[in-house]
Amino acid sequence: MKFLSLFAGIFSFGTSLFAAESPVGKVQQVAPGVYFHQGDIEKSGHCNHGWIVFKDYVLVVDANFPSGALEIIPKIRKTTDKPIKFVFDTHHHGDHAYGNKVFADAGATVVAHAGVLASMKEFETGAFGGKPGRWEFAAKGRADVRESKLHPPTLLFDKKKVFEDGQRRVELVHLGVAHTKGDGFAWLPKEKILFTGDACVNGPFNYVGDGDTAQWVKTLELAQKLGAETICPAHGPVGTQQVLVDQIAYFKAIRAEVAKLAGKTPEEAKAAAPAIRETLLKNAQIQRYVGQFLDAQVEKIFAEITGVTPKEKEGK
Ligand SMILES: [Zn+2]
Repeated sequence: MKFLSLFAGIFSFGTSLFAAESPVGKVQQVAPGVYFHQGDIEKSGHCNHGWIVFKDYVLVVDANFPSGALEIIPKIRKTTDKPIKFVFDTHHHGDHAYGNKVFADAGATVVAHAGVLASMKEFETGAFGGKPGRWEFAAKGRADVRESKLHPPTLLFDKKKVFEDGQRRVELVHLGVAHTKGDGFAWLPKEKILFTGDACVNGPFNYVGDGDTAQWVKTLELAQKLGAETICPAHGPVGTQQVLVDQIAYFKAIRAEVAKLAGKTPEEAKAAAPAIRETLLKNAQIQRYVGQFLDAQVEKIFAEITGVTPKEKEGK
């Protein structure tokens, strides 16, 4: 998720197991030694965090923006005095990975799917000796980014990375392209808890610019096979496995609507977006996913399905 200022006043969450008990900014224990924290996306652009307490250390899910990292570390410290040794970037976006340096300065190693580093090399050109990239763009509007530095992950995995100490097991897994090319999930098989990153969110947060929605559905269906009972999304409240069901249903529904536009021009597809919005809003299961990204979703999915992009985008 990237364009956070768009979210003001559009929150409408239907499915949440714990929403009433866990307002934004409060630490929530989802299992003994496993925590979830819903970031304030509206005010600060923050993603959610998870953390898992092992015998000797803490593994944190997502680094957030630098200001989010600085906010969460003292909250983690209130739940355990064990050292934060690892922070897992679920993907390369700023609201998940720009706080890496804050955690690294506190002694943590940043772990991610190899695609996270590859995407950083693609988009964070400024940090890799090229022209200004996304970091420099974000820094224009965020003091916390301006005052920090990109810290790419240094512990990389391709399919799976397991953390296991006899009591606790966390599997970091890459199941395919979804929200980005480097999405990772954190799966706790014993507790049946799945931290999904932005591959599965619980609200109108589906930024689709860096992924592929057809593969996204397949990746989420693979994630479903893990058998999670608790879904900890990277934006929106924690919920049951129904969150994953609804997220898949949303993509299937919007893709089906856009598929009806085959043969039209990109401009005609764009003009059809308000009608698609109305149709999706009538579906109670998925209406909470309909938000300000919808027009961009229609445009991207149309391009995926037809291979045709709007004229003004050609050559970019
Ligand atoms: Zn994202």
